[in-house]
Amino acid sequence: MDLRFLGGADEIGRSALLVNGSLLLDFGLQTSTPLRYPLDADTDPDAVVVSHAHLDHAGAVPALLSGDARPPIHWTPPTRALAMVLARDTLKLHGNTPQCRFTETNLRRVTQVSQTHSYRDPFEAAGHEVTLFDAGHIPGSAHVLIDDGETRLLCTADFHTDDQRLVAGTRARPEADIVLTESTYADTTHEDRDRVEQRFIDSVRTTVWEGGTVVVPAFAIGRTQEILLLLADSDIDCYVDGMGVEVTRLLRQHPEFLRNPEALKRASANARTVTGRDGQRERIADTNTVIVTTAGMLNGGPALSYIPEIRSHPTNKIAMTGYQVPGTPGRELLENGRLPLDNGVVPVSAQVEQYDFSAHADREGLRSFLDSYRDTPVLAVHGDDCEGFADRLRTDGYEASAPGVGDQLTVG
Ligand SMILES: [Zn+2]
Repeated sequence: MDLRFLGGADEIGRSALLVNGSLLLDFGLQTSTPLRYPLDADTDPDAVVVSHAHLDHAGAVPALLSGDARPPIHWTPPTRALAMVLARDTLKLHGNTPQCRFTETNLRRVTQVSQTHSYRDPFEAAGHEVTLFDAGHIPGSAHVLIDDGETRLLCTADFHTDDQRLVAGTRARPEADIVLTESTYADTTHEDRDRVEQRFIDSVRTTVWEGGTVVVPAFAIGRTQEILLLLADSDIDCYVDGMGVEVTRLLRQHPEFLRNPEALKRASANARTVTGRDGQRERIADTNTVIVTTAGMLNGGPALSYIPEIRSHPTNKIAMTGYQVPGTPGRELLENGRLPLDNGVVPVSAQVEQYDFSAHADREGLRSFLDSYRDTPVLAVHGDDCEGFADRLRTDGYEASAPGVGDQLTVG
C-alpha cells in the first residue's frame, strides 16, 4: 500500500492522505491567514472518504469538485450535513477572495456525489474496501479502515476514548496491519472530565449569583452542544448564539449518532436562541445570564459582539472551553488580558478562565487505544510533536515512526 501525506502529518490542520494514488482520506483547511490547503490541491482522486466534519479534515473537500472532477465523497450522514455548514461559512467569510478555492457550484456538486454510510457497514471506494467505526470525537466522526486486498490500514482520525455528554468514547478496535494515529494530546493528561465540569459550573454559578454576565466562547460543532448539555443538566438557563445553533438543530436530526438524543432535546429547550436582530445582543450582554456563542477562539462570530459589551466590568466572566491556538485572539486574551478587534486592541477587565473540554484522547487515552495494536506498526500524525510520540512508542517496543508532509511511504 502506497501512502502520500498531503497535509496534517507532522502538524495540525489541513489533514489529507492519498492512498495508492487513488483514494483520498480527508481534505482539510487550516484557518490561518491566508488559508492553507493540503499539497497538490489540484489532486484528482477517484474517491474521497471524510473522517469527520471539522475544518482541518473536511474544510477543503468542495475544492475537489472543480473542472470535470466528480469523485464520490463517502462519509456518515452527520459529517455530510456539518461539512456543508462549514463550507457555506467558509464561502461567507472568504468566498470573494482568491484564497477560497471553491464556489456555490462546487457545494451543489458535493450534494450530487455524496454517499453516506453507517458505522461498520463496508463499502467500495476507488477499488478499496472501506469501513467506518465510531471514533467518539464528535457526532458522525469515524476511524477509517482501508483494505486494498493486501494491507489493512486503520486511520484513527481524531478520537476520544472517554465518554462525553454528546458522544460515547470509541470502543472499536478493528484488526489492522498498520495504524495511523492522531497524536494531538500525546504530551498531555486531561483533568478528569467530572472535575472540569464541576469547576466550570461552580464558576458560572458564582458569576451569575454575583450579578455578572458569563460569555462562553465555544466551537460550533461538538463543544457548543456539550456545554448546552452540561448547563441544562445543572439547571442553569442560558442563551445560545452563532453557528452552534444550526449545528445543534442538524445534530438532532441524526439521533442515532448521539449518546442521548433526549438530553440534547432538553438542552436545546433550555437554551434561548439569539437571532441578533434589533440590538438583541447588546440587551442580553447587559443581563445577568450565561451566553454560549461561537467562535471558540474568538476569531469571529457573535462572541465578538458580546465581549466588548461585558469587558469593562470585573464581575463579568469569559469562560473559554478549549485549547487556544497561538496567534488567535482567544490566546491573546488568555495570556495578556486584551482582545484584538477590527478597530484596535481593547483591554479586558472581566475575568478570563479556561476549561479543558477536549474531544481528543490524551496521553493515557492514546496509549490505551494503541494497547490493542502492540504488534502492529504505528505511524504518528496530527500533532505538535509526532516525532517525540513515535520515539516514546519505540522505547515501549512499538515499531513506530512519524511521517512528514510531502512524504511518500510504502507499507504492508
Ligand atoms: Zn476533529
